[in-house]
Amino acid sequence: MPEETNKVDMEKIVSLCKRRGFVFQSSEIYGGLASCWDYGPLGAELKRNIKNYWWKKVVQERDDMIGIDASIMMHPKVWEASGHISGFSDPLVECKGCRKRFRATDIDSKVCPECGGQLTEPRMFNLMFKTHMGPVEDEANVIYLRPETAQAQFVNFDNVQSTTRKKLPFGIAQVGKSFRNEITTGNFIFRTREFEQMEIEYFVKPGTDDQWFDYWIQERLNYYIGLGIKKENLRLRQHDKEELAHYAKGCFDVDYKFPIGWSEIEGIANRGNFDLTQHSKFSGKTLDYFDEEKNERYIPFVIEPSSGVDRTLLAVLVDAYDEEQADKEIRVVLHIKPELAPVKVAILPLSRNEKLLPMSKQISATLRPHFMTQYDDAQSIGRRYRRQDEIGTPYCVTIDFQSLEDNQVTIRDRDSMQQIRIPVEELLDTLKSKFS
Ligand code: ATP
Repeated sequence: MPEETNKVDMEKIVSLCKRRGFVFQSSEIYGGLASCWDYGPLGAELKRNIKNYWWKKVVQERDDMIGIDASIMMHPKVWEASGHISGFSDPLVECKGCRKRFRATDIDSKVCPECGGQLTEPRMFNLMFKTHMGPVEDEANVIYLRPETAQAQFVNFDNVQSTTRKKLPFGIAQVGKSFRNEITTGNFIFRTREFEQMEIEYFVKPGTDDQWFDYWIQERLNYYIGLGIKKENLRLRQHDKEELAHYAKGCFDVDYKFPIGWSEIEGIANRGNFDLTQHSKFSGKTLDYFDEEKNERYIPFVIEPSSGVDRTLLAVLVDAYDEEQADKEIRVVLHIKPELAPVKVAILPLSRNEKLLPMSKQISATLRPHFMTQYDDAQSIGRRYRRQDEIGTPYCVTIDFQSLEDNQVTIRDRDSMQQIRIPVEELLDTLKSKFS
């Protein structure tokens, strides 16, 4: 049976992203750089709104969580201790004919899917990007770009705990770039070599880890529902024993029903006390916790919910995308959660007539400090509504000739397309209450 996929066509999402400035191919004028993408004006806003939403939910609104923002480059010993130097590899096969490389797990036969050439035996390929720090390119100066943000939470465990005096259970959160030299990339921003992660390391008393693991699995599923993603497009998937990473006691993925089929947007792992134990061993520094109630020291266990910004953004776009019959045409609309929308309010004077200009500019200036706005006076009002629908702008404010006489403007709702007329002096408060 073919795997279930989202009805939304990936091509349509890619095309919308390029056309409207969500995502561009990196270095496009030079022919692009494989698997690298640039977020354009709308994409940068959406991405930032997703990261802010995550931070608000997991840091700001909780009293058991704090955030850090660590360096991407870390001491090379970190990756020895974490097991990434020895274990963070995928089996790779290479075609002896065209030299193309594939993940062995993606290939069913012994011949190259591109040219039919003979494939080499699989060998392990480390996914970490290697570079040199400083002017001398020798082995002593090798460093790696981090393949996950998580290790900074572990190596800073003592710094954070002693400065914040947090008691277990508590978590350290971080958002930032990670790099993996993936053998095969693709499906737009789904699998790239540079991407952004939002990761929580939640430290708990040993023995309570199973219970916290269950808690975080539910919590994280609910988070995606709160992000506005349809419940039926989300599922939890448990990893079987063979699939578990070297450090994990258990792992669940939150999958989204993408146009390419069900695929992971977040992994939630019970990492036991593997990381803190390893870093204690390799650094010679004690990374444990003094339990005042029990009057004893122990190494906490950790639950790790690890989410991808880029995959979340793709899921948000796919989930919000709709083509609806409106009047006699199809309107493309992003039913995106208003909090995430790149543009919150569009200011649309009915026409470019000079008489409308002062009032329209005044309204725009009043709203700009409060909302991300867009001012658009090009082409017909109908087309401008469509343009805003397509990028998910929740509200459009229209200024017409009547406005000059009665000092009232129209607010149009993206989803219902209903319009209400209100006095200009009530506009800011009305919009604020719609967003709160
Ligand atoms: P996959 O099995 O798809 O390679 P993974 O299990 O290796 O992913 P994790 O190590 O659990 O991924 O990373 C946590 C999250 O980081 C993923 O759920 C995903 O959202 C994001 N992520 C990981 N690798 C990539 C990548 N190459 N491109 C974009 N996002 C990624």
